[in-house]
Amino acid sequence: MSAKRLRQEAADLVKKTQEFLEAQQQLGLDFVRGTPEAPARDQARSERELLLSGTLSLEEIRQVLGDCRRCKLHAHRTQVVFGVGSPQADLVFVGEAPGADEDAQGEPFVGRAGQLLTRMIEAIGLKREQVYICNVLKSRPPNNRTPEPDEIAACEPFLVAQLKAIKPKLICALGAIAAANLLKTKVPLSKLRGKFHDYQGIPLLVTYHPAYLLRNPNEKKSAWQDLQLLQKEYLRLTSPPSR
Ligand code: SF4
Repeated sequence: MSAKRLRQEAADLVKKTQEFLEAQQQLGLDFVRGTPEAPARDQARSERELLLSGTLSLEEIRQVLGDCRRCKLHAHRTQVVFGVGSPQADLVFVGEAPGADEDAQGEPFVGRAGQLLTRMIEAIGLKREQVYICNVLKSRPPNNRTPEPDEIAACEPFLVAQLKAIKPKLICALGAIAAANLLKTKVPLSKLRGKFHDYQGIPLLVTYHPAYLLRNPNEKKSAWQDLQLLQKEYLRLTSPPSR
């Protein structure tokens, strides 16, 4: 059987299982009487393996995500905010979570912070459509509170899968939450800035979240220094080798 067919079958299986579990929940039924956790756990495990396998396209990942209820944030959001931009992007920006505007429009970084991010992208000579933009969490936390560990754990496989599907040459983590989760570190953002880190073989730069820059305009100068670093590395990685 071809790899493409295998992938399709796996995605179909996950979708069907998810629909079945959702239907059971809506009917108020346990999945299997006596051992209700086991099938859900097995399903979650196989879904996680599928997402982490790096075989799914962005479209397939979005399909698996569905109208996600894998963590408690589903109860507060208007809609899932998956990601936007080029599936072949060389540069991916990863933020924290959708805010009110993003929750309403279903697209990441569209509010005031998003407009600043667009200007940051343009400052390094790119257009928003040329990069890919997403968040660690795909649902808005109530009142934009800090994401909780169980929410990040539930949503993380989708971010990992997105990055595996896009295979960017460069990643920019926007803010402390994105940096901490991509790099698996507790080092403060101030100490992570100014140099490239490694995310599964991909250079990763950390800078301030645009929402933080709106609240702390004095830090825009530092953010500009980060962007210059990012631009230099982007040009180095994407320019054809000179003869
Ligand atoms: S934050 Fe992620 S895991 Fe939680 S409900 Fe939203 S999409 Fe699902």
